Amino acid sequence: TSTDAATQPRVVRAARGNQRTAKSWGAEAAKRMLMNNLDPEVAEHPEDLVVYGGTGKAARSWEAYDAIVRTLDELEPDETLLVQSGKPVGVFRTHEWAPRVLIANSNLVGDWATWPEFRKLEELGLIMYGQMTAGSWIYIGTQGILQGTYETFAAVARSLGRDSLRGTLTLTGGAGGMGGAQPLAVTMNDGAVLIVDVDESRLARRVEHRYLDEYTTDLDAAVARVVAAKDAGEALSVGVVGNAAEVFPELLRRGVPIDIVTDQTSAHDPLAYLPLGTTVADWKAEAERDPEDFTRRSRASMAAHVEAMVAFQDAGAAVFDYGNSIRAEAQLGGFDRAFAFPGFVPAYIRPQFEEGRGPFRWAALSGDPEDIYKTDRAIAELFPEDAALHRWLEKAGEKVHFEGLPARICWLGYKERHLAGLKFNEMVASGELSAPIVIGRDHLDSGSVASPYRETEAMKDGSDAIADWPLLNALLNTASGASWVSLHHGGGVGIGRSIHAGQVTVADGSDLAAQKLERVLTNDPGTGVMRHVDAGYEHAREVARERGLNVPML
Ligand code: NAD
Repeated sequence: TSTDAATQPRVVRAARGNQRTAKSWGAEAAKRMLMNNLDPEVAEHPEDLVVYGGTGKAARSWEAYDAIVRTLDELEPDETLLVQSGKPVGVFRTHEWAPRVLIANSNLVGDWATWPEFRKLEELGLIMYGQMTAGSWIYIGTQGILQGTYETFAAVARSLGRDSLRGTLTLTGGAGGMGGAQPLAVTMNDGAVLIVDVDESRLARRVEHRYLDEYTTDLDAAVARVVAAKDAGEALSVGVVGNAAEVFPELLRRGVPIDIVTDQTSAHDPLAYLPLGTTVADWKAEAERDPEDFTRRSRASMAAHVEAMVAFQDAGAAVFDYGNSIRAEAQLGGFDRAFAFPGFVPAYIRPQFEEGRGPFRWAALSGDPEDIYKTDRAIAELFPEDAALHRWLEKAGEKVHFEGLPARICWLGYKERHLAGLKFNEMVASGELSAPIVIGRDHLDSGSVASPYRETEAMKDGSDAIADWPLLNALLNTASGASWVSLHHGGGVGIGRSIHAGQVTVADGSDLAAQKLERVLTNDPGTGVMRHVDAGYEHAREVARERGLNVPML
C-alpha cells in the first residue's frame, strides 16, 4: 500500500547545479543539505535516517522527511518552516530576512533530561536525537571532524615540546563517523597510530576512504606494524578489530610503548558502546531487549577501558577525553578515578575559542569539486599570514576524499569569517563559482554551546553548565539573517549533558545575501568572544578590544 511505501527507506542524493525547484535559495539549500546528510556517501546508517554519532538523525521518520522536502519546495521566500525533533510542524509568515527554517531537536526540561525518558518519548514517536549537525543539516562527512582532530593532535605535539608527532605512537578507539578522522589526523601530523574498533565494517570503510592505511584482526601483527613505524619515525595508521575494553588493558599489560591515548567510541550513549561479552551481531537485539541491563554492562566495560587509560597516564603517556563522555560513564560504571585525565577542550582548544575560532565550513551546491578548490585559493589569499591554515588547505586538497556535496572546513575566528562569506558571495555573483555556497559550522564551537564535559569544561569562572549562551546565540543568528537556525540538546556528550545551537547561511550572490552574511558571520563568532570575555579570559578581552566587540561591562 502507499502507506507502507511512505515509511520505507529510500536512497537519497541532493540535486546539484544552479537550477532550483524551491522558491528561494534559502529553502533550496536547506532541502539539499537535509538530503546530503542522508546521502549514503555521507550518512553512517541512511536507512534508519542516522547520519553520525551513534543515533544522530536528520529527520524523525521517512514520512517526516518527505513532508519536510515537500514543504521546503512550496515555502514562500517570506515564510518560515518550524521543525520539532525532525518533524515539520508548522509554516508561518515572517519576512525575507528571517530564517527559512527554525529547528529544535531533542530538548527536554531539566529534571526529565535523561536517556530513559528520551527513549520512552522516542519510542512513542515524539522526539528525535539530533546530535549536532545531523538534525541541523550541515554534516559534511568525516572531513568535518578531520580538521578539528588535526588541530587537536597538532596541539598535543606542541604540548609535548615537539613540532609534529613523528616518532610517537597514539592509541585510540572508535572508527565511526567522527572517530574515523583520528588515524588520518595523526598521520597528517606525521605520527603512528593504532585504532581499535569492534565493528570490522567501520575500519574497512575508513580504509576505502583513505582515512586509515590498513587494518587487521590480528593484534600481534598490528602492534608490530605500529611499533616499527614509531621507531622508524614513519607516519602509519593501523586499525585492529577488537573491543577497546579488552584491547586497551591488554596493550598496557604488554608494555607497548604508547605516548598518547584517547578514545572516540560512542560512549556518550551506553547502548551505542559494545560491552564485553556481546558480539556485534547480537548488539542491537540485546540493547533493545533489556536497555537497562545493557547500560549497566556497557558502563562496566567502560570502567575497564578508562582504568587502562588512567594507567597509561600514570605510566607517563599524554591522555585525554575526546568529547565522548567516557569519563562520566566509566564513573557511573564504578571506576572512581575516571576524571584523572582532562577533556581535550581545556587541555588544547580553549585558547582558540577565546578568539571565536572554531569549525567554520561550507559546501558547494553545484556538486563541482572545482568550486571548492576555487574557494580554497580564495581563503589562502584572504589570510596570507596564517601558516597553519595554509598547511591545512594544502594537505586537505591532497588527502580529503569528498563525501556527498564537495565541502571544506577550516578554523576561522571573529572578524575573519565574514570576509570569507562576502568573498564567496562575490564569486557566486560573478559566475566564478557555478552555484550558491552554503556556509555554516559545527556546534562544537566557541559561543554556541554549553557542555560541561566538553566545550565548557573547567571554565575559568565556573560557568560550565550555564545554558543561556547557546540560547542567545540562536536568537542572535535568527535576528541577523541566517538561512536556518537550530537549537539542540544532548549532542556530542549525550542527553542531559549539553545544549547547543547552529546556523547555516546561503551565499547566493545577491546583495541581500551579502548583507545577511556580513551580520551573521560577524555576530556568530562574536558570541564566542563575548562568552569568554564574560568568563574572565584575558586573551578574549584583548581580542574584544582590538577587534571592536562591544561588551558593555568589559
Ligand atoms: P559512531 O557511532 O559513528 O562510531 C562509534 C564507533 O565506536 C563505532 O564504529 C563502534 O563500532 C565503535 N565502538 C563501540 N563500542 C566499542 C567498543 N567497546 N570497542 C571498540 N569500538 C567500539 O560515532 P562517532 O560519530 O564516531 O562519534 C564517536 C564519539 O565521539 C561520540 O560519543 C560522539 O559524541 C563523540 N564526538 C566527539 C567530538 C569531538 O570533537 N571530540 C565530535 C563529535 C562527536
